[in-house]
Amino acid sequence: MSPIDKSAILIIYTGGTIGMREDPVTRTLAPMKFELLLDEIPELNKLDYSISSITFNPPIDSSNMTPAIWTKLARTIEKNYSRYDGFVILHGTDTMSYTASALSYMFENLDKPVIMTGSQLPIGVLRTDGKENLITAVQIAAAKKEGKSVVPEVCVYFDSQLFRGNRTTKKDSAHFSAFASYNYPALAKAGVDIVYNHEKINYPKNKGLLKINTNVDDRVVVVKMFPGLNNQYFDSILQLPGLKGVVLESYGSGNMPTSGWLITSLRKAARKGIVLLNVSQCPGGKVMMGHYETSLALEQAGVISGQDITVEAAVTKLMFLLGQNLSLEDTKHYLGKNLKGEIEA
Ligand code: ASP
Repeated sequence: MSPIDKSAILIIYTGGTIGMREDPVTRTLAPMKFELLLDEIPELNKLDYSISSITFNPPIDSSNMTPAIWTKLARTIEKNYSRYDGFVILHGTDTMSYTASALSYMFENLDKPVIMTGSQLPIGVLRTDGKENLITAVQIAAAKKEGKSVVPEVCVYFDSQLFRGNRTTKKDSAHFSAFASYNYPALAKAGVDIVYNHEKINYPKNKGLLKINTNVDDRVVVVKMFPGLNNQYFDSILQLPGLKGVVLESYGSGNMPTSGWLITSLRKAARKGIVLLNVSQCPGGKVMMGHYETSLALEQAGVISGQDITVEAAVTKLMFLLGQNLSLEDTKHYLGKNLKGEIEA
């Protein structure tokens, strides 16, 4: 392969454990400079790709992630889109699924891989999982078949599995298999070979140019149901000034208490134009409103079914759609539609 045929990959380093080092005084983990991180993985130089990198300044623990940084990520990819064959985003695991979901909605006509990864142990630690995660993420970002990217989606690669990003959830803070995609199969598994699940990968329908849409509205909250939920607290959340949308984390297949006060609160909020989205606390399975008596009234109160969506994909979808200045009816309509493979419908 001549140098001009080499796949060009851009690594964008936002922070996260992968690039952290222990502070000798405080003993806490904090992000280090990217150049130091690359020094820890000389193996990258053995790949026959042309690899460039960009560091976000300052690198952050992903608990500090914000919609402004999602926008910066989308813009960075847009700006560099024509010069690279694929992108790898290094990101903390804590909010990786939120960023992956938000980015999936922000891109239109994506036909190149955007592979997010990170690690549970810093790259400088002997037993780190970061090396394998990063090297394989780069290989997936570079993978092509008949001149086209094999996985032109926003994905999370972690512990030998490639997932659609907006289907993932961080499930474990102690083991290397930090992520799961309960409602959608892996897009690839990396063993001796990287085996792709081609039928489950989304390929762009249009051949248009990449477009980004980074408008989001953060006037949303997530409220989780639990036995004993205080009626006044719940009602005062729904009456917060300016509130636009609520993700209601329900039980099982979308059930909530049938108490009159809850339905009254929801009905009042819906009448004010607040968008109410029902997402299950169960990581697997889906919301089926009307299946039990305990969810029938929700439908009548104007609550929308989140179907098999994750909470991460739901809250970012709500933020994204509310940011589009759509009519209330259209916002609700698109919430129920499959935008980027985040739900089955
Ligand atoms: N707190 C870290 C972060 O999300 C955890 C990690 O990277 O795994 O940035």
